[in-house]
Amino acid sequence: MNVVEVCNLGKRYGKHWAIKECSLSIPSGHVVALVGPNGAGKTTLLHCAVGLVEPSTGYTEVFGGLEAGSPEALARIAFVAQDAPLYKYLTVDQIIELTRNLNRGFDTNLALHRLDDLGIDPHQKVGRLSGGQQSQLALALAIARHPDLLVLDEPLARLDPLARNEFMGVVMAAVAEDGLSVVLSSHVVSELERVANYLIVLNVGRLQIASEIDELLENHLLLTGPVDEIAHVANSFDVVQTFRGDRQARLLVRSPEITDVGPNWEASQVSLEELILAYLRDPHSSALSPPVAHGTPSVHGVRS
Ligand code: ATP
Repeated sequence: MNVVEVCNLGKRYGKHWAIKECSLSIPSGHVVALVGPNGAGKTTLLHCAVGLVEPSTGYTEVFGGLEAGSPEALARIAFVAQDAPLYKYLTVDQIIELTRNLNRGFDTNLALHRLDDLGIDPHQKVGRLSGGQQSQLALALAIARHPDLLVLDEPLARLDPLARNEFMGVVMAAVAEDGLSVVLSSHVVSELERVANYLIVLNVGRLQIASEIDELLENHLLLTGPVDEIAHVANSFDVVQTFRGDRQARLLVRSPEITDVGPNWEASQVSLEELILAYLRDPHSSALSPPVAHGTPSVHGVRS
């Protein structure tokens, strides 16, 4: 079952399209990283998925056919918005009580245990908690609803590196215990390789990548070789990005099966961070269609 199905989705504000012609399917049980530069349309896409924004074209369904934003869908989704907006004048235990009253099946003990682990005083006013503690509180409230889908909009932005690690540890524990699906947008690309197994890249409102991460990494390679042979390699593979030095060049290429590259070329695997940055640098590149096989190159290389 697809936990999210997006079909030809577009959202226009005035003359400006925040997102356009987005179609993708997210299989359930995945941790999905949603990446893109500022203004790429990440929040808009997430808001469409949770029914906070009415699309201008297309539609989003969740849990194999429920309309995004319908009461049945909302009962199974927990959404933590950017900056984790909370009632700042309430104390932590009052906000837990409020959330319990608003959500059938809310697991008060789970929320209290989590906050105890974090050393957050239940009598403290929410507005007096640090930004990072407020993010942790919002996550604790979301997970205690035992959702089938957890949607987090830039949850890591206000957290220090240790707190990021801790935060994602809690998310991953919930994934392991409850089998929920997670979609999180983030600019902290280095953190994602460890936790996510599905990647969506949006750039200037267009979808560039929507894929299992393993598959994506298998289908890309970094090739290093002489600058004057770039044209030969470029004829044989889909080149996503070229880095030129004086004599050596590095090409990020996309191909279904690369076994032979050439005697002067070395092939190595690409990291998720390098791959994401390469696509972000060129908003026109896309990994959506199947990679093209360009004939057999004439020489050998080694796939590491
Ligand atoms: P960031 O990483 O900076 O949070 P984002 O990828 O989440 O950005 P969005 O917030 O979805 O991007 O915005 C996408 C585009 O849509 C931007 O150009 C933004 O200015 C525009 N936009 C978003 N919401 C509105 C709105 N309510 N009214 C007008 N324009 C909007």
